[in-house]
Amino acid sequence: MSNERIFVLGVDAATLDIIKPLVRRGELPTFGRLIKEGVSGQLTSVTPPVTAPAWGSFATGKKPGKHGLFNFYCRQEDSYNIIPINSAHLRSVAIWNILSEKGKKVGVINVPFTYPPEKINGFMITGKMTPRRESERGFTYPASLKEELIQEVGDYRMDLSDETKWYTEGNEDAFIKDLYQMAENRAQTVLYLMKKYEWDVFIVVFTFIDDVQHWLWHYMDPKNPRYNTKGAKEYGNVIYQLYRKMDLILETILESFNNTTIIIVSDHGAGPLYKLIHINNWLMDLGMLRVKENPISQAKLWMFKHGINPENVYSLLRKPGLRSLLRILRRKFSSMGSEKRERTLKTLRKIFLSISDIDWSKTKAYSFGVWAPIYINLKGREPEGIVEPGKEYEDLRDFLVDELRKLEDPETGCRIVDKVYKREELYAGPYSNDAPDVAFLPRDTYMASGHFEFLSNSLVSPSYWSGSHRMNGVIIMKGASYQGGCYD
Ligand SMILES: [Zn+2]
Repeated sequence: MSNERIFVLGVDAATLDIIKPLVRRGELPTFGRLIKEGVSGQLTSVTPPVTAPAWGSFATGKKPGKHGLFNFYCRQEDSYNIIPINSAHLRSVAIWNILSEKGKKVGVINVPFTYPPEKINGFMITGKMTPRRESERGFTYPASLKEELIQEVGDYRMDLSDETKWYTEGNEDAFIKDLYQMAENRAQTVLYLMKKYEWDVFIVVFTFIDDVQHWLWHYMDPKNPRYNTKGAKEYGNVIYQLYRKMDLILETILESFNNTTIIIVSDHGAGPLYKLIHINNWLMDLGMLRVKENPISQAKLWMFKHGINPENVYSLLRKPGLRSLLRILRRKFSSMGSEKRERTLKTLRKIFLSISDIDWSKTKAYSFGVWAPIYINLKGREPEGIVEPGKEYEDLRDFLVDELRKLEDPETGCRIVDKVYKREELYAGPYSNDAPDVAFLPRDTYMASGHFEFLSNSLVSPSYWSGSHRMNGVIIMKGASYQGGCYD
């Protein structure tokens, strides 16, 4: 490595599909200049394009089978408990470990899933999935950095506020204001740290583009069922404006530093989303997943089938008359510490049909986690596995792959799955044993849900998000080591 410093800007969910037209219109001068003077192109995400494994690959230069992060959630060893992942689940050295070892000074700010923070030769502020601060032992290395930031920059904003975290129609203005505040706070933090401390490599991830694309895409998408002209007039440009905000932040940062190599990278792209697919319902219909016979599980199944499930309760609470109740609940839920939040999820799992109601002695396949990866209840691997390794396992996977390919949207009769993969097609390496047995990519405008195991009693339901991830992200690099050019 030369003495040139490297600044890495991670923009979660940034896509050339939006950047390029804006650059052509002259609206992103800094991105435009870097694309023109540097080297750039589409970046292919991990399959499926999930934030956790994608940033894991960014951090390690390896695919998920070799770094061990597959999803936002994983199965606790020797049980069927689903737990959220953290930095301990990334089981390969990260670039900041290697740089530290080589004596390079490194700053790591807001890279998702880095909590708890690590001791590095520099400083670290953890990112997405950091538990709420009040109940935790700190999210910075060194620990004193937290106080320093509060004094020098004002409060550090890791995420959207409790009030706006879950956007609902009607609170757009507060949601957008919060996104700007969060972006500005992160920018100020970065500028402060870059000036105050020595660094050879500085890595920061901004997440507000991902947030706004998930929640407000429908205002710029006339094909979305929730599109309306009044909303489009008011909020149809918000996503573009936030890309402009990113451009301005980048400009300010670059003005402060010369002789710096710049790398801009996203973990995946983005595009419109209309419907969610609920894979555990499909597995139930196929007879692959069975619910326990006991009265409580059966009562929960009855409720589930009659529409008393988290999705319907949530959409009921979104109705105008009940929105204030939703706001109160949300405040109560959001302001809790992580242990409490996990306890709340456990309570939800007690009320609604959940993974704890699955009869493992009669279940061959199940799904948990975002983008609905499918796991076989394999003998010897799962605690109560019933599927024999070998022929039974292979036949079952062939069956699921075939059935997935045929899966249709009951409303339209159209196929909804684009590509299906068996584990070994996607994963190799020491941790591939923890990988899903079957994974798939839905057609554009569909996404497989998975934050809760049994969210909806339909196979396909309208999505509360209006934007989702795509396989194509972005990479832009400029510096002495890179020759100019564009690769699409
Ligand atoms: Zn992401």
